[in-house]
Order: sequence, then C-alpha cells, then structure tokens
Amino acid sequence: FQQLSAVDPEIAGVVLGELERLRGGLQLIASENLTSPAVLAALGSTLTNKYAEGYPGRRYYGGCAEVDRAEEIGIARAKELFGAEHANLQPHSGASANLAAYAALVQPGDTVLAMGLPHGGHLTHGSRVNFSGKWFHTVGYTVRPDTELIDYDEVRDLARAHRPKMIICGATAYPRLIDFARFREIADEVDAYLMVDAAHFIGLVAGRAVPSPVPYADVVCFTTHKVLRGPRGGMILCRESLAPRIDRAVFPFTQGGPLMHAVAAKAVALREAAQPEFRAYASQVVSNAQALAAGLAGEGMRPVSGGTDTHLALIDLREVGATGAEAEARCDAAAVTLNKNAIPYDPQPPMVASGIRVGTPSVTTQGMREGEMRQVAALIARAVRTDPAGPGGADELTRIAAEVAELVAAFPAYPRG
Ligand code: PLP
Repeated sequence: FQQLSAVDPEIAGVVLGELERLRGGLQLIASENLTSPAVLAALGSTLTNKYAEGYPGRRYYGGCAEVDRAEEIGIARAKELFGAEHANLQPHSGASANLAAYAALVQPGDTVLAMGLPHGGHLTHGSRVNFSGKWFHTVGYTVRPDTELIDYDEVRDLARAHRPKMIICGATAYPRLIDFARFREIADEVDAYLMVDAAHFIGLVAGRAVPSPVPYADVVCFTTHKVLRGPRGGMILCRESLAPRIDRAVFPFTQGGPLMHAVAAKAVALREAAQPEFRAYASQVVSNAQALAAGLAGEGMRPVSGGTDTHLALIDLREVGATGAEAEARCDAAAVTLNKNAIPYDPQPPMVASGIRVGTPSVTTQGMREGEMRQVAALIARAVRTDPAGPGGADELTRIAAEVAELVAAFPAYPRG
C-alpha cells in the first residue's frame, strides 16, 4: 500500500476511503462479502501478469507450469467440496459463467424457461436488455401471489406448453429454498437441460447450510464473491459428459485468457470454504438472516414469503410509507448499506421499487450474531421511517449513523494492524 500511495495517491485514497467505508458502516448487500487477507494476497499477486489461454497441460502460451498448478489445485478443491464431476474456474464473472452455459447447452432462438426478473430472476435469465433475452426465446415463471413461493405447477405447465431446451432455477432475490428435485423432474419430462444458477447460495451449499443442487443439475453456475467469500468471479460445475462442451464454451467461445490471479484466489477461497469454521459461518449466516427478518417483521416491515431459509430477506415496505429507493437513500445516510429491490407483483417501477433486500454474509464474517441482528433491525426501521427533509430528520439519520459506528466498532471489518 505504501508503494501505491507513493505512485498514485489518488487511487490510494480511493482504496483507503473504501476501507474506511467498510469499517464505518453496516454492509447488508446480500451479494457482497468481506474476503480474507489470503484471498486478497492471491488477487494482488504477480499471477495477474500471466497469459494462459487454454487449460492446465494444454495452453497456448509457454511458462504456465506455476499457473497450471494453481488451476489444477482449484479444480480439485471445487470437485471435492461440491462433489462435482467437473469444474471450470475460468469464468470472469457470474454473467460470463451463465453465457458459457447457454453457449454449451442451447442455440440462439431456442426456448429457455427461467424465473421472471420481477420475481427474483437475474438479467441473464431473459432480460430484453441482456444477451439472454435478445438471442433466446425466454419464458418467465413466477411466484404465487398468495405464498410468494415458486409456483412449481406453473413451471411444469409452462414447460409442457413451451418445450424449453433449458430450464434455469436460481435467483437474485428469492429468500427460500428451491426444490431441485422437482425442477429435475420437470426438466426430464420435457427433455430439457437443467441449469442451476447458484450464484447467491453456493456458499451456503459449501458450508452445508442448504441442500446442494449438484446431484440434480446438468450444469451449476455461480459467482465466487457472495456467501462463498472468494474473489469477484464465476465458476461452473457439470457432469463429466458435458465437460468438453462447457470448457470450450468458456474458452475459446466466450473468453480469452483467464485471470490467473483470480483463479488462484478462487482456489484459496475453496480451501477456506472446506474448513469446519466455514460450516459454522454458513449456518450463522442463515440464523442471522432469520433473526434480521424476524426483527424487521417486529418493526412492522413485512418479509416477503414470511421469512427466509437463506442469507437474504426481501422486505415489503408498502405498509411503512417509504419506497425502496427512499429506504435505500435513508439507510445510506445512516451508514447502513443495502439495496432497493422489487417485490413480487410490485406496483412501482424497478428504479423506485416497493422493497429492500438485506443480506447477512458480511456482518456474519465480522462476527455478529442474532443479538446484533435485532439491533440492526431496529436501526434500519428507524432510518427507513426518517424523512431527511422532515423536521429533525437529518439529525436523526446522523444519530443513527453514530449508533451504527458504535455497533460496528465492536466487530471491525479488516481490523486495523
Ligand atoms: N446470477 C445471479 C443469480 C446473480 O445474482 C448474479 C449477480 O448478482 C449473477 C448471476 C451475475 O454475476 P456477476 O455480477 O458476477 O456477473
């Protein structure tokens, strides 16, 4: 860091400023986490210099012996941790992993059945502004209006009606467990591939806190930077029979040279995730999310579907009198970082939204437990109900920020020294 400060004080200032932001507030974005110093060391290493197009033992460049070792170690760890037949660690991101899965399994114009975006699906599950919605005929399934749970009967009916080549399950804002066996059954009935986008919950799978999709899916794609607590990036697991197609779809079809520093950092994260402490972590992430959802419910803020089985809760703010966008801005002013989020059947446009999404991966990494989650729920509820333009509003948000600072000081992100 001293070298960075000497060469580029402006960017050094950004790095330091971000560290202070992490230390000074509550990080409740469900898709973020705080990576370990070991992961950061691998990311900031000379492995970033190396070109290594291809795969271990069959590269298009010389000098790959060391990076081959990193990738081989990472692949072996992924297969072991997830009980998978094949692993590809090269996708640069979750979206890249999904693009490769499409490239391997379907052709442009084919039908793909995935969760609708307004119900929790990801952009790569059929958004019109994304390759998935532009190049494929995507059909979206929904959650039931009464239970706010995936409507498996509708999934089956849509599969029978549209005969998709691929069915995707997995979402960005679904707080409940997914019935992978049911999806497998539906995919088999219509002879479709089953792709599980496990970006959000794969860390919980690694920590044995939720069931694994691996036995049911043809392909499992995910990000490595959410609950799994690795570097930003993607990964794909699949059956051996699909391995050549998946590998070719990643390189050379959708990517060039892999980011070997990121591949090595993924290997480090996989090692960390295989430790007994990570199981304790994953189960605490879920307990914390349940405590936070219950705390918010106690404050009159309704969790969609009644609660959560995972690391995140989606909160319906319609009874509170604040939109998702207002809640996000108010919490931001109180040093609580979270995001506005559409709720199922949301009457508001996505940039306004009627809900917020809260997640516990980061605060659990910091060591917080259920007791702190109850405090966090009370702080969020106060912030969301405080109009900064109203009398005393700005002062109240400043007071909440001070209370947040006091709370997080006892659970420092990246402790000093
Ligand atoms: N799939 C799901 C379900 C996600 O939630 C996300 C990101 O949040 C992605 C894919 C895309 O990951 P990335 O942002 O790394 O491209």
